[in-house]
Amino acid sequence: MIDRKLLTAYFGRDQNTCWQCPTCSNGYLVIEDDTFRSRETAISQKGHKHYEWEPEWVSLVYSCVFKCTNNSCGEQVASSGHGFLDWDIEEDENGIPKQIYGEYFEPYYFHPPLKIIDIPESVPDNITNQLEKSFELFFSSPSASVNHARSALELLLTHLKVPKTTINNRNKRVKINLHNRIDRLAQQHSEFKEFLLAIKWIGNEGSHPEKNLTKNDVAELYEILEHVLSELFNNKSKAILAKAKKINRAKGIK
Ligand SMILES: [Zn+2]
Repeated sequence: MIDRKLLTAYFGRDQNTCWQCPTCSNGYLVIEDDTFRSRETAISQKGHKHYEWEPEWVSLVYSCVFKCTNNSCGEQVASSGHGFLDWDIEEDENGIPKQIYGEYFEPYYFHPPLKIIDIPESVPDNITNQLEKSFELFFSSPSASVNHARSALELLLTHLKVPKTTINNRNKRVKINLHNRIDRLAQQHSEFKEFLLAIKWIGNEGSHPEKNLTKNDVAELYEILEHVLSELFNNKSKAILAKAKKINRAKGIK
């Protein structure tokens, strides 16, 4: 299941945020202490001389290695991104509240990429590969990540035997666009039409340069995609659906 809060989270050096290990899915990623480096960018340093300078102007970069807490896995995940200062209220030794600035970091990159949604094992490799590319770009460029999700959708339609091309009225072979492919699928799998069209609309927005999709927008797309993949490829949900159909045919349990 998608955890939107985690996908849009910042982290402090106290590690208030724990991403799941992409390799074992059991452990959590913890910063390897001696690997964390952060620096203030040159432009940010110059800003200090400005008479209106405020801590909120500070811009940092970071890099580090996260290690999986599961000892039998021990995966190492490289990460980098940017950072900033944000304040909190703390009480001093006399109980007087004071403003404290702390450094916070937003990841742009993880490698190996985090697993953002559950991909059932029986999903074909070419679809899984596109999804992993999408997950890799998600943190630095949500709009670019959507293009790979859209490619995954095209591959999914091909897997479901929806043709890619057709013969037009001038007897020429032409590509069928994504919308029409989804329409064709609906003739057999009408239950997925609404979901797939929603993925397509968000996907279209990703390819318009003037539109900047947020991580929350893309999380919405992933949520729908996760549901579709689970319905199509999870044996468990297939078995439950088969049972439901049997009950419906018999109009009750026999
Ligand atoms: Zn692990």
